Amino acid sequence: MNSKTMFRLSYGLFVLTANNGKDNGCITNTAIQVTSEPNRISFAVNKANYTNEMLTASDDFTVSIISEEADFELFKHFGFQSGRTVDKFSGFSDLKRVENGTLAITRGTNGYISGRIINRIDLGTHTLFIADVTDMELLSDAPSATYTYYQEHIKPKPKEASDAEKGKVVWRCKVCGYEYEGEELPEDFICPVCKHPASDFEKVVK
Ligand code: FE
Repeated sequence: MNSKTMFRLSYGLFVLTANNGKDNGCITNTAIQVTSEPNRISFAVNKANYTNEMLTASDDFTVSIISEEADFELFKHFGFQSGRTVDKFSGFSDLKRVENGTLAITRGTNGYISGRIINRIDLGTHTLFIADVTDMELLSDAPSATYTYYQEHIKPKPKEASDAEKGKVVWRCKVCGYEYEGEELPEDFICPVCKHPASDFEKVVK
């Protein structure tokens, strides 16, 4: 069995926003349409995520669809910090308050879909949410960014190794590009930038 086959599945990228008196949002790659009559979507969110906690108490959300015009800053802003410790919308102006009271992101996105959750399925590490679509709008004609597009065009390219670094072993985070120096990566290592686990690192000889 080749576990890399999972990477052949294609995924979009989205900013998922909710409001429980406070606004928050996170990056997800799991939003898909599941039925058209009625129009319904599903998405899964890690339970460690503050947005998951918000969506336990509140049914309304918006999924903003990230386009190929998005920059790495958008991913850092919504993906690599937690709404528990940071107000992600403080000083953030590329947004629009939509019909259901949540926020759509208007830069680096090409549309948004708002919805109301009708079912929550416990998947252990994640919750799968099923929702009725309540509103949607187009924001630009730029193509949607896929996870592969993010990997190839948006995530910063690793720096060329200097002569002193040549042959050195590092572990590189596949999500954000962070490099851990050392022959072995501790099993319980968590990326200090994007908070992804050791399983998302690859060994690289410079
Ligand atoms: Fe990372």
